[in-house]
Amino acid sequence: MKIVLLGPPGAGKGTQAKRLVSAYNILHLSTGDMMRAAAAAETPLGHEIKKTMADGKLVPDPLIMAAVLERISQADAKHGFVLDGFPRTMSQAVMFDDLLELESAELDHAIQLRVDEEILLDRIMIRAREMQEASGDVRLDDNHEALKVRLRTYNEQTAPLIEYYQSRAILRSINGLLPADSVTAELLTLIGCSR
Ligand code: ADP
Repeated sequence: MKIVLLGPPGAGKGTQAKRLVSAYNILHLSTGDMMRAAAAAETPLGHEIKKTMADGKLVPDPLIMAAVLERISQADAKHGFVLDGFPRTMSQAVMFDDLLELESAELDHAIQLRVDEEILLDRIMIRAREMQEASGDVRLDDNHEALKVRLRTYNEQTAPLIEYYQSRAILRSINGLLPADSVTAELLTLIGCSR
């Protein structure tokens, strides 16, 4: 099972991806988590990635592609994966499809979590507060300024992927404003019912 979750920051991709992992025994591949780990390294590359992320900008495609390819070639991806935060640009999407094709593979589903932009800021500010309370560790990009850039980047560079996957007939769409359990139930139904 190879799934892409699409949606703006705060849409709930990470939460839903984790639930799909336990339902299907597939790998949760969050490029955001991978880049946060890379940014923690005290190296020039780590510092560069950290700054890019803190500004809400995108990490360059070659770095992302290399990280993704390395990860999905490992044994725990053998039943498939759910991609969270990748692909995020049209070129990442096309490169990834080409790479899958080389292995005679393809994505099974691209699932869009639809949300209103006005609620995203609230969700992200709540997440920042919860993380602060739980561990004192807040994401550097969970603030108004970086979020504005993240949303603009999403609209300009990632939203076009919705049409791309529609044209490939694998796009499904779910109302991401529903309670998380209802979103999961819809997600499982969509995946189970189609293809
Ligand atoms: P969110 O979806 O909440 O904005 P993520 O955790 O998915 O957050 O990503 C955080 C940051 O990591 C992004 O703003 C970007 O800097 C970097 N990043 C993650 N995935 C990608 C990607 N596929 N391409 C480029 N940059 C990425």
